[in-house]
Amino acid sequence: MTYDMLLLRFGEFTLKGKNRSRFEKSVLSHIRRVLKPFPNAVIIKEYGRMYVELNGESPEALIQVLKKVFGLVSISPVRVCPSELDRIIETAVHMVGQRNLADQVTFKVHARRVWKQFPHSSQEMNHLVGSPLLRTYPQLKVQVKQPDMELRVEIRENGTYVYYEVIPGAGGYPLGTNGKAMLLLSGGIDSPVAGWSAMRRGLEIECVHFYSFPYTSQLAKEKVMELTRLLSGYTGRIKLHLVPFTDVQTSFVSIGQDNLMITFMRRAMLRIASALAEREGALAIVTGDSLGQVASQTLPSMNVIGRATELPLLRPLVMMDKNDIINIAKDIGTYETSILPYEDCCTLFVPKSPTTNPNLKIVEKVEASLTDLPGLIEAAIQNTETVIIRPDSKIGELEAKSEGQVINEDWF
Ligand code: ATP
Ligand code: MG
Repeated sequence: MTYDMLLLRFGEFTLKGKNRSRFEKSVLSHIRRVLKPFPNAVIIKEYGRMYVELNGESPEALIQVLKKVFGLVSISPVRVCPSELDRIIETAVHMVGQRNLADQVTFKVHARRVWKQFPHSSQEMNHLVGSPLLRTYPQLKVQVKQPDMELRVEIRENGTYVYYEVIPGAGGYPLGTNGKAMLLLSGGIDSPVAGWSAMRRGLEIECVHFYSFPYTSQLAKEKVMELTRLLSGYTGRIKLHLVPFTDVQTSFVSIGQDNLMITFMRRAMLRIASALAEREGALAIVTGDSLGQVASQTLPSMNVIGRATELPLLRPLVMMDKNDIINIAKDIGTYETSILPYEDCCTLFVPKSPTTNPNLKIVEKVEASLTDLPGLIEAAIQNTETVIIRPDSKIGELEAKSEGQVINEDWF
């Protein structure tokens, strides 16, 4: 089926008066960027919606990239015909015929006469277009409330738009319209989903990953780069901070409090991430914690760990079931990479029985006795490498380039 245009609909942000133009600007620049590889596509803005003229570009390919644009709620492929009754009916009959009509399909026609000089009212058009459809396709049955198919007919002076498909988009708020946060990105299933959820709420994210070379491999690091690359498909580019964590981590081994190991590690991670957040102008930290999932994610653990930072900790998955998280991971394309086996720095020194109920006073006391700790944390921050990852980055080659790389702010 050939289409002429795509209709793009936007969500809740179109209602928010003051922010509207800022949001629209962000979403428009995002759409322009994802459509760059399609030189014939032309964007037309309208109040509360946009159209993309295809001019021969493939609708499927455009829909594929547009589904990653936050703030875009749904997409409909549109046929355009001259605003003449016969041509409108012909187009509608042809379009509906392309659809795989099951035994019975309920439908209605919803016509809207934008161009008032058109000789038939919206109401009349519902019947004028609906009757020939019923005659042509006996499987169709009219149903006004919640039909399987709603055929929209918008009659305008320079053409009539006909469409019925509604393809869901990513929804949420346009990119970066709600500020910036640091995402603690491990190699697991949860944190990429948490990052996607944060971006979908309009947060710009920078990723922070802690690695413990030589205990964790180069492959583990590349896995996290690949996850960042997958997330960058939604934003154009993402900064990834790679923090060498070995010295901080091993400094906790000598304490002899194995069951608190994870608590110490997580608190150190938050301290380092907070320092990076301050440097980068981020106002929150996002994690993939989900309540009760493991020992470090019980309420007492979250409480003690969370006190290591003054920044708001955003945990988008905190109340979600693992299955729902897995389903999102599959939808956004990170699952297959997340389940690759390479070990994470936290699985290394994992004690046999990590505490589910750490005591804040004890934890603070032990930390205060580790006189090296502030220096080791500072060194980890100093030795952090930053790479910028884009959807077309070649992961294996990234690291060599990261040294001395100039970070330019060409995108936001
Ligand atoms: P994930 O699937 O995201 O790894 P998880 O259920 O395995 O989560 P944990 O390993 O306990 O949970 O980690 C909890 C959160 O701490 C992660 O979601 C992530 O935000 C952060 N985190 C854990 N390890 C690292 C790491 N090596 N680097 C950066 N962040 C980490
Ligand atoms: Mg993990």
